[in-house]
Amino acid sequence: MVRAGGIDLGGTKIEATAFDEGWAAIKTKRIPTPQDSYENLVEALCEMVLWLEETAGSKHLPVGVGIPGFHCKRTGKFLTANLLASGRTLHHDLTQKLDRAVTFENDCNCFTLSEALLGAGRGYASVFGLIIGTGVGGGYCSGGTLISGLNGAAGEFGHLGIPYAAMKDLGLDAVPCGCGRTGCFETYLAGPGMRRLAKHVIGKHVDAQAITTAAAAGDRQMQEVMHLWARIAAELVATLQCTVDPDCIVIGGGLSRIPNIDRIIAEALPGHLLSQTEPPDIRIADYGDSSGTRGAALAALQSHEELEAVP
Ligand SMILES: [Zn+2]
Repeated sequence: MVRAGGIDLGGTKIEATAFDEGWAAIKTKRIPTPQDSYENLVEALCEMVLWLEETAGSKHLPVGVGIPGFHCKRTGKFLTANLLASGRTLHHDLTQKLDRAVTFENDCNCFTLSEALLGAGRGYASVFGLIIGTGVGGGYCSGGTLISGLNGAAGEFGHLGIPYAAMKDLGLDAVPCGCGRTGCFETYLAGPGMRRLAKHVIGKHVDAQAITTAAAAGDRQMQEVMHLWARIAAELVATLQCTVDPDCIVIGGGLSRIPNIDRIIAEALPGHLLSQTEPPDIRIADYGDSSGTRGAALAALQSHEELEAVP
């Protein structure tokens, strides 16, 4: 029996998955993301919702969409960098067209909810999901509930600034970030940021995978790059501690596949956190790419249950 459906709206493809009572994926469908018009994008999302309803044999199936951007609860506007829907009221238009409720949630928040309830963060009172890939994103879940905020932007710690003292100490320059600000954590912590650290240490760019392989094999310079990277990661953990103080941080994204990345970050923490405080547990995500659909389905089920609880 299908319990909920999740849709992951990506820049190149839209993926829908029907989940059973035990949160196993029963059926998945993928289609290319329409690049030609907003109307076709809405139509494609409708098609996926209808496919999920058909798969479940129910029009009342909770369905959630994980979105690569923010959805402002006040204005209803969708903010995204790589889709034709930026500034449009995508949620409103989709629910009007379908004449049914559909939950929207930021994709990093979907990852966090999925890991907090079913994955590596299961059993912890509070979980911060930290995604480190081509960018740095995140989300925060407390007591099984996402704290997503007005725009769904809560947890976007990749775009906080690296503390000045840390930059000075590490001898790094503040560089412009894709978000329009300068000196964000993302500029040195994401995959391209690790390349930038290699340039700082040895004068040329080296890919993240080559850095970690060489460091593990004993290359001193690449170990220095990893050391710098881990210290910046530790500064981010310190920032997280002083804001939401999570019990556990679950690492996802491309860089979570670096061998022992959890231990590398945990070992860099002493000296960065508030003295005498307990560090959060650092865990690697249980689910990879399926977190988007699973988290969206979980968010939909939660809001569905909330709606049903309203007298
Ligand atoms: Zn930024």
